[in-house]
Amino acid sequence: MTASRVLVLNSGSSSVKYQLLDMADRSRLAAGLVERIGEETSRLVHEPLAGAGGGRREQTGPIADHDAALKAVAAELAADGLGLDSPELAAVGHRVVHGGTRFTRPTVIDDEVLAEIRALVPLAPLHNPANVTGIEVARHLRADIPQVAVFDTAFHSTIPDHAAQYAIDAATAARYSVRRYGFHGTSHAYVSRAAAALLGKAPEEVNVIVLHLGNGASASAVRGGVCVDTSMGLTPLEGLVMGTRSGDLDPAVIFHLARVGGMSVDEIDSLLNKKSGLLGMCGDNDMREVLRRAGEGDEAARTAFATYIHRLKKYIGAYTAVLGRVDAVVFTAGVGENAAPVREAAVAGLEELGLVLDREANAVRSGEARLISPASARVAVAVVPTDEELEIATQAYELVTR
Ligand code: AMP
Repeated sequence: MTASRVLVLNSGSSSVKYQLLDMADRSRLAAGLVERIGEETSRLVHEPLAGAGGGRREQTGPIADHDAALKAVAAELAADGLGLDSPELAAVGHRVVHGGTRFTRPTVIDDEVLAEIRALVPLAPLHNPANVTGIEVARHLRADIPQVAVFDTAFHSTIPDHAAQYAIDAATAARYSVRRYGFHGTSHAYVSRAAAALLGKAPEEVNVIVLHLGNGASASAVRGGVCVDTSMGLTPLEGLVMGTRSGDLDPAVIFHLARVGGMSVDEIDSLLNKKSGLLGMCGDNDMREVLRRAGEGDEAARTAFATYIHRLKKYIGAYTAVLGRVDAVVFTAGVGENAAPVREAAVAGLEELGLVLDREANAVRSGEARLISPASARVAVAVVPTDEELEIATQAYELVTR
C-alpha cells in the first residue's frame, strides 16, 4: 500500500484549521477546525467526509494550547478510523504565511528550515509564530513522515523587481527586507491554473487577472502561469479594500495620525488592519450585510461598497496595463464566488477593456468553476472556487513522492 493521505494544517494564533485528503483520488476524508485555543470556550468542529466515520461532531471546553488542539484533532480522526498513526499518511502540509525571499517553493521542513521560518517572524509577527507552533506540534506527533511548508508568498516570488520594489532608499529597503512579497499565493496559483483549464488552455497560454475577494482580498496579474504583479505588499495590508483592512493609502496618513492624532504605532497598526476597510467605513465587514444595508439605502454601506468597487476597478485597469493582453478576469473566495452584485459592479463600464458580463450567468449560484461572460466576449470573466487546502496537499504530495 502506498501512502497517499496528506493532512493539511493552517495554524493561526488561536485556531487550527485542518483537512485530511487522499491524493490517490484527490478526495477529502475529513475537515474541521479548532478555535479559541487557550480560552475556556475553545471549540472543535470535526466533519468526516466521503462516507468516512460518523457524522459532524462539535465539542466546546478549554483546549489549552496548539499541542492539546492537535491531539484533540488526532483523537477525532482516530474515532473515524483515520488516525494520524496510519501508514497511509504520506505527509503533513503546513500553510506558512511568510517565506520572505528565502522560500519560493514548497519545502520539506528540517531544523534549519524551521529556524529560517522563525527568522521571518519580524516580517509576519501575527502569522509565522502560529505556523511554527503548528509545525512543532505536528513534527512531534509524526516525526517519521515529511512535514512540508507551503508558503503564501511563494507564487509571487516571480514578480519582477520593478513591481516588487518600493521606491525608497535602496540601502534601507535592503537592510530591513522592505519589498513587496504578496500573499494568498496558494489561492492565486490554484485559481489561475483552474481558469486556464476552464478556457481549455494550458496555463502557459493565457494571461489572467485573479481577484481573490474574501475577508482579506488581493489581486494578481498572471502572465502565462507566472505571477508578474500582486496587490498585497510587505504585509497583507496593501491593495484592495478588505473586510477590516484599509488597503492602499498615503503613508503620510500614518504620520498624520501619530503627530496630530497622538496615536501610537500599535494603535495605528490595529486601526488599519482590524478596524478599517468595510468594517471601518460602515460598521460591517461581511459583504452580505453591506449589500443588504446598501440595498435599503443606508448611506455608509453604500459609500463603503462604492469605495470597495472603485479600488477593484482600478486594479483591473492597472493589471490590464501590466499584462497588455488579458484572456480572463477571475473572481474567487467568499465574496468573489458568492456576491454577484460585486462582480457586476466591478466590471460595469469596462467594455473598452473587453469586459462584458452575461447577467443571467452571473446570477447563477454554483460551486463549480464557470464563465459569466458571453461566448463572444474578448476577455472571459469567470468564477473559480478556490481550494487552498487541495493546492497545499497537491504541492506537498508532489514534493514527497517526486
Ligand atoms: P473568505 O475569507 O474567502 O472565507 O470569505 C469570507 C467573506 O465572504 C465573508 O466575510 C463575507 O463577506 C463573504 N461572503 C460569503 N458568502 C457571501 C455571499 N453569499 N454574498 C456576499 N458575500 C459573501
